[in-house]
Amino acid sequence: MKTADCWRVAVFDSKSYDEEFLRGALGERPLRLKFFSERLNADTVALAQGYDAVCAFVNDTLDAVVMDGLVAGGVRALALRCAGYNHVDLSAAFGRIHVVRVPAYSPHAVAEHALALIMALNRKTHRAYNRTRESNFRIDGLMGFDLNGKVAGVIGTGRIGKVLARILRGCGMEVLLYDPYPDHEFAAAAGCRYVDLPALLASAQVISLHCPLTPETKHLVRRETIEQMRPGVMLINTGRGGLIHTPDLVRALKSRQVGAAGLDVYEEEGDYFFEDFSDEGLSDDVLARLLTFPNVLVTSHQAFFTREALANIAETTLANLDACRADGPLENEVCYRCCEDGCRKQEQGRCF
Ligand code: NAD
Repeated sequence: MKTADCWRVAVFDSKSYDEEFLRGALGERPLRLKFFSERLNADTVALAQGYDAVCAFVNDTLDAVVMDGLVAGGVRALALRCAGYNHVDLSAAFGRIHVVRVPAYSPHAVAEHALALIMALNRKTHRAYNRTRESNFRIDGLMGFDLNGKVAGVIGTGRIGKVLARILRGCGMEVLLYDPYPDHEFAAAAGCRYVDLPALLASAQVISLHCPLTPETKHLVRRETIEQMRPGVMLINTGRGGLIHTPDLVRALKSRQVGAAGLDVYEEEGDYFFEDFSDEGLSDDVLARLLTFPNVLVTSHQAFFTREALANIAETTLANLDACRADGPLENEVCYRCCEDGCRKQEQGRCF
């Protein structure tokens, strides 16, 4: 790869806050940023023509067609300003475009948002807010339960799951953990306990999802697993929408098997999240149905959205881009065989 003096970077799906934080962190780095509000997809990939790199977010389409378009346009790096890369066709990128990401920017931001969902759903703060705004000061229907002494289940105990586990311990909850790669040292230090998935599902009154979306975790929450949960369970998802089979969740909410759901992510969120449809209404019947339940709280993929997280995302994204430009080692590169034999990052600091 030739090292150019200055790289031109096309930033897609850009909002005012992306521009503010990326410009704020740019400093003297030899990167020239151009901000596009358009999402990156087959229709917009032509905008990337002539740029050295693109910067993309969670709802950009990063499939083989887009990779071909990027390569044809001379793009050499794709910098994700997010942690998850389930939406990237890594095999289509391999050997042609380096894919870099922000593995961790603030696990606290996401874990604290999960707590906000739990607290609001339990004490029905979202409903109380509406009532008192209407001068209705009745409290019937708003009863919650003490978190203290209840059982929480955290599925996926990476960076975010661990922070949430500690927070919930601070609320006096018994915290059960499930992860195929358990960290027993952490569990002992935090006063939590690893169990297998069926045991967690059967015991927890609050279940929070913090694993990545993979073929193995897709629809982890579906009819069969929901049936194994305690009646009235509260489900929290700040992971990825595809972890839940949403029509099954709607059925379980109707039957009250699920007592409350806090969803920061939704499987079909790409069509709606981060945009304003208040004048148009929704054509997605499942999302529309979800929004009718008083015990469902949907937020629009905002768990990451704190000042600290945005500053970290901007800093790491620009550092990643600069390392691509300078032909340096790519600490945050991902490829489809990163964790298997054959990826050369260990030896060369780059996947290929
Ligand atoms: P991480 O990589 O640190 O941890 C993920 C954990 O999940 C790992 O410990 C892994 O072993 C575990 N895991 C893998 N397969 C599993 C399975 N089948 N069952 C249970 N656990 C499994 O990731 P993180 O930084 O903690 O982030 C977790 C997820 O949160 C990300 O993958 C991303 O999808 C999501 N996320 C959402 C937001 C948001 O704004 N809503 C922001 C950041 C991350």
